[in-house]
Amino acid sequence: MEIEAARYDVDVLVCGAGCAGLSAALAAARNGANVLLVEQAGFAGGIITTVGLPYFDGIADLRTHRVVVRGIPLELLVKMDVCPPDVTHFPTHNPTIDNVERFKILADQLLAEQPTLRVLYHTIACEVQLRGDAIADVLIANKGGLSRVSTRIVVDCTGDADIATRAGAPVEKRETLQPMTMHFRIGNVRRTASIRLDCRQALVRAQARGDLPMFYGPGVSFIFAPDEVYIHAIRVPADGSDPEDLTRAEIQGRRDAWTMFECWKREVPGFEDSYFISSGPFIGVRETRRIVGQYVLTEDDVMTTRRFDDAIATGCWDLDQHPNRTTQGAALDHDRIIPEPYDIPYRSLLPRNVANLLVAGRCHSATQLASSSTRVTATAMALGQAAGTAAALAARSGISPQELSGQRVREVLVAQGGGPVEG
Ligand SMILES: Cc1cc2nc3c(=O)[nH]c(=O)nc-3n(C[C@H](O)[C@H](O)[C@H](O)COP(=O)(O)OP(=O)(O)OC[C@H]3O[C@@H](n4cnc5c(N)ncnc54)[C@H](O)[C@@H]3O)c2cc1C
Repeated sequence: MEIEAARYDVDVLVCGAGCAGLSAALAAARNGANVLLVEQAGFAGGIITTVGLPYFDGIADLRTHRVVVRGIPLELLVKMDVCPPDVTHFPTHNPTIDNVERFKILADQLLAEQPTLRVLYHTIACEVQLRGDAIADVLIANKGGLSRVSTRIVVDCTGDADIATRAGAPVEKRETLQPMTMHFRIGNVRRTASIRLDCRQALVRAQARGDLPMFYGPGVSFIFAPDEVYIHAIRVPADGSDPEDLTRAEIQGRRDAWTMFECWKREVPGFEDSYFISSGPFIGVRETRRIVGQYVLTEDDVMTTRRFDDAIATGCWDLDQHPNRTTQGAALDHDRIIPEPYDIPYRSLLPRNVANLLVAGRCHSATQLASSSTRVTATAMALGQAAGTAAALAARSGISPQELSGQRVREVLVAQGGGPVEG
């Protein structure tokens, strides 16, 4: 099939407008690049808006609550009225936005402010065409059919390393992946002292009856309104990079959410007059493919706080690896393993074998355990900002991201208020 000549010709194509991709596109455009951002959903924000998750984990040290990520992630929190720009410590380890619909509007506004940035929602990046060891064109699919994007540099922020995989860069996908979770909200709930325990015991009974295959927690939070619960509890083992498995998981997650709602409404005091507000809209995928890049960040690097000259971001979250089994009362079945704030090197954004590609977000180059820490929201955003900045610098200098020095990327990030935290 012949696909017409390039409909778009840009310096930087960012694939995926999630936590990493939103930051990458903003950073690339603010650094002067002509950018196209494509996103399969009808809005930006990734996990925040596709799953409804309001937490900015990774922005503050888990123990001291000191801010360790600034730049675009902090700017987003400031613009969501969570904190002032000069904040140094948060009252909790996980600052939370109060409305994910408002976050969609904020993302639209920030993207629209950039004159050299175009956005295509409802658009999936689906194939690449190589010239030598570089991506020449990316094919995108949307209501206009298939189109060709000619680009100098690609930033893969798909979460699943879709573009790196299509381009033939080495990737790894573990046999056992972390389970997926569908989040949901129930309204008109009366809060009682024992509500969390009552909800948990009802799920234990539902599982014993054979109505529920697996669950965790449940996390029952009244964060959006005093009579509304936001639930973290669904656990579906599946591979989000396999279209058939992803479909099965989406269907099962939705069914399990409804099963939980019905059993709480029937059995738990406070839920008598409740109603199901919404799920998703997408099931959340924690882990699929990661690139095996120029440097693979390890759990040893994380736990020993190894320093890197080309550090471009700081991580701080615990090793947060969800198991594929029921864990009552919590997400993990062991004590949290918490590192000191640690460096993430530029080379973990660089794939092997493909010259003009950067990869940011949960599919950057790290071992499974290290990435269970680097995958959280604010860290993914910081990686996205670094990748977008590097893409713009490389495009401006006419070199590849591989030829760009990580120290230079770090200097620019720091000069612009981001980059790794000192000390
Ligand atoms: C259920 C769940 C709960 C979590 N809980 C927390 C938490 O409490 N706190 C926390 O900080 N972190 C949490 N995380 C982790 C964290 O939020 C994610 O790992 C983070 O979103 C990673 O950012 P990302 O940009 O890599 O991926 P995402 O935010 O998922 O963004 C990827 C984007 O790319 C788009 N996309 C994918 N493929 C394509 C394509 N081919 N073409 C175009 N667009 C594409 C997607 O639609 C999406 O918008 C959770 C994750 C999950 C799944």
